[in-house]
This record gives sequence, structure tokens and C-alpha cells, in this order.
Amino acid sequence: MKVITTKNEMKALSDSFHQRDEHIAFVPTMGNLHPGHMQLVEKAETLAPKTIASIFVNPLQFGQNEDLDSYPRTMERDQQLLELGDVDILFSPTREEIYPDETSNKEVIEFPGLSDVLCGASRPGHFSGVAVVVKHLFETVQPDVAVFGEKDYQQVLVIKKLVQEYKLPVEIVTVPTQRETDGLAMSSRNGYLSEQERQTAPLLYQTLCQARDQVKAKAGCFSAIEQQASEVLTKAGFKPDYFSIRHADDLSEPNEGETRLVILAAAWLGKPRLIDNILI
Ligand code: AMP
Repeated sequence: MKVITTKNEMKALSDSFHQRDEHIAFVPTMGNLHPGHMQLVEKAETLAPKTIASIFVNPLQFGQNEDLDSYPRTMERDQQLLELGDVDILFSPTREEIYPDETSNKEVIEFPGLSDVLCGASRPGHFSGVAVVVKHLFETVQPDVAVFGEKDYQQVLVIKKLVQEYKLPVEIVTVPTQRETDGLAMSSRNGYLSEQERQTAPLLYQTLCQARDQVKAKAGCFSAIEQQASEVLTKAGFKPDYFSIRHADDLSEPNEGETRLVILAAAWLGKPRLIDNILI
């Protein structure tokens, strides 16, 4: 596996792949890789002859009081995993490489109604940071297809919107959320959980499953189901941020009886804020 740290070198190599008509599948990450990430890599490998992964802890998507400095960085181990996973190229640029000056640090890409609701409401600027970095990465890596996890459901919709609005020539493919055996969605931030919190954490997914069953059985209006779920989480020690039944395509608030739905939840459990979702 070749490791590239500069945009110029990455771009030149991608250019050479395109000249030879070798398609590129791309998996952007922030590192601290777990089997969920590796599932994206596996998917990418089925989609194109060249697989490129990136590791970049993107400062623009962290709020002022968030965990940018303490975010787990495990580059050596990540490299080994990607190597074992047959990735062709790892692109791991420095902050200066992606954001060389003040102006690039201040770029904003918002999609009102999509990037400012749910996680976007509690983490102002987060999805703008995601959109800005993904646009930079796409322009540098020039993938034909990019793979993202459904665990970050809102992020997927923001990226699809980014591709549409900026007419970026890349197809977005998604992979279902990979879970621990007890149902907890795998996440780099699960490492922040204490032993006791780790035992409680699967309740987030269990509550989503229950809410899905209630929606399917029409057992109550959406707001009653949401409220009941939040209460269950609160009683167990979570601090729910939101538990929300939304339209699956654009996260708008659905009318009762609508069927293309997703239920999304975010809740603090000790230090980490866990997110998860379930499609109906
Ligand atoms: P991150 O490193 O957290 O920015 O995640 C990089 C990519 O991995 C994103 O597309 C995430 O949605 C995806 N991802 C993270 N956790 C999981 C998971 N448990 N299952 C599937 N994809 C995931």
C-alpha cells in the first residue's frame, strides 16, 4: 500500500489512473479504524480496480467544546489494517495540506433544512465542515465512486446533496451499519464508554428497534413514540439529544401514515454522544 500525504502527489496519481481508464473507489475516514470502516473498504473493492482510503481528522467538523484534541489517533494500526485489507493507497494529508490558509479554514457549505436539523442543530457547523472536507477530498482523489456508512445517515444525505449541488462526478454508495454482537453500532467514540456505560449502550439500538415496531404496528402517533423512547433512554442514564421519526429521503417531518421513514437518535452516555438510526 502506498501512503501519500500531499494533494499534488495524490492528484497526479489519480490522474494517471484515469488516463489508464482505471476506476477509483474511495473510502474517507477519520481513522481509528474498526470493522465498520473495513466493511466500507470491502465494498469499495467490489466497485473499482483501485481502492483509496483517506485518514484525516477534520478540524472543521468539530465544535469548540468537542473532542478534536482527544479524538483517537492510531495511524500505525490503521495502516496495518488497510494494508491487510488490500487497499491500494492511503491518503493521509496534514491539516495544512487541506486548509493551507485562513480563507480555506472559513469555507462554509450549508444546506438549510438538511444540514441544520438534528445533529446539525446540536452541532452547528458540523455538516458544513463535513461537506467542505469531502469536497476537497473528492477534488483531490477524483473517485468514480465513494463509500459511506449508513450509521451516519444524515451525513450521507448531506453528501448526496453536495454531489448534486456541485455536480461532482462521483457515485455515492452506502453500507449498512456494522454492529457489535449486542447491537451497539461500532464507533470510534465507543472507546470513551466506561465498562458500565458500555453495558447500557446497546439500549439505544434496542429503543430504535422498539420504536420501529411501534411505527409499523401503528401503535401510537409519531410524537408519542418519540417521547416514550426518550423517556426509556433517560431512565437508563442517557441524556437524549433527539429521538426523531423523519422522512427517509430528506429528513423532513413526516405526516402520520407516511411509510418511507427513518428513525434517528442521538444521546449522550457519559462522555460520548452516541448516534444511531433505523430505516423503516
Ligand atoms: P469516521 O471515521 O467516523 O468519520 O467514519 C468514516 C466512515 O465510516 C463514514 O462513512 C462512517 O459512516 C462509516 N462508519 C463508521 N462507523 C460505521 C459502522 N459502525 N458501520 C458502517 N459504517 C461506519
